Amino acid sequence: MFDAEVRFVATRSSLTQKLVEELWLYAHALCRNGQIADDYSVSRQARRVRLLCILPERGSLEGMFHDKRSRALLRSIGKLITRPPTKSITGEAADTPPSCSCRRRSCLHLFTHMFDDSSPLACGNCSQPVPLYRLHRLDVRSREALLGWQSDYQACDRLFISSGFGEMWAYRQMSRLDSGLTMDGRELCAAVEAKVRVPVFYYLHKYWGRSNEMECKRLCPSCGKSWLLSEPIGIFDFKCDACRLLSSKAVDFPSNAN
Ligand SMILES: [Zn+2]
Ligand SMILES: [Zn+2]
Repeated sequence: MFDAEVRFVATRSSLTQKLVEELWLYAHALCRNGQIADDYSVSRQARRVRLLCILPERGSLEGMFHDKRSRALLRSIGKLITRPPTKSITGEAADTPPSCSCRRRSCLHLFTHMFDDSSPLACGNCSQPVPLYRLHRLDVRSREALLGWQSDYQACDRLFISSGFGEMWAYRQMSRLDSGLTMDGRELCAAVEAKVRVPVFYYLHKYWGRSNEMECKRLCPSCGKSWLLSEPIGIFDFKCDACRLLSSKAVDFPSNAN
């Protein structure tokens, strides 16, 4: 991903506040469309206003990726500024993955974690995130629902990692087939699959286990069949094609306590 800066200059000082307000709306629309990460800021100095953001790709802000709402907001911003905005990439965002550039994808994975700034849909071929605006068949509602699920998942992951009062509740949400978070996520996977027309898999988290041996014998929690992969795919050790589920082996066993 890339750090970027977009600069605007208001035609009059009295319009600067209006420009700031419109820019927040514009940034929100870009975020909803997957064109910028949900980590942006707007700053001002006299008539100059800057949007600092993180882009999945160098060209994420190109007009062709805008949706109706971001185009309309950009038009109203155009009436408040002296000249077209200037965009610059200021560097590669540290510790962020590159975006998928595959021409064809055999499947997608719905997957995120608390430090993830990228798209919640990853490519099944290269395992890299797929910017939501690249999935042309997804409508605005689906994009919003995906980002809403991502935010809920990250809230659970945060509770789990902080190991406080919500640890077990959050772990169940992320690891159980019948949790609200999982049911929402799988419903989304099915809806995305119907639109994008490639299989969309859901990841079930696994942290605690009895032993590595027992983990290898673990069966798909939905159909009860064997789902251990002969070769792991990235972090995934289990995959059930019929149930569209993925999981990984537990990493914490009672013997680790010694
Ligand atoms: Zn890919
Ligand atoms: Zn299954």
